Amino acid sequence: MQAEVNQELCISCGACIDVCPEVFDWNDEEKAQTILDEVPDQLESQASEAAESCPTDAIVIN
Ligand code: SF4
Repeated sequence: MQAEVNQELCISCGACIDVCPEVFDWNDEEKAQTILDEVPDQLESQASEAAESCPTDAIVIN
C-alpha cells in the first residue's frame, strides 16, 4: 500500500502526523508528506485512519 499527500489540498492541520507519525511528517513547505515509499503491513490501518482524519481529503491511498 502507498499513501500520497496532495500538496494543493493540505492545509497543514497536522492530524495525519498525530495519527500516524511513522508514515507522515512535515516537509520544508510545512505541509504533510509521506516519508515511506511503501506503507508496511503493520501500519496500513493507522495510515488509513490518518487519511480518514484529513479534513480536506488530501491523502490518497493506493
Ligand atoms: S491531515 Fe490532511 S490537511 Fe492535515 S496535515 Fe495531514 S494531509 Fe494536511
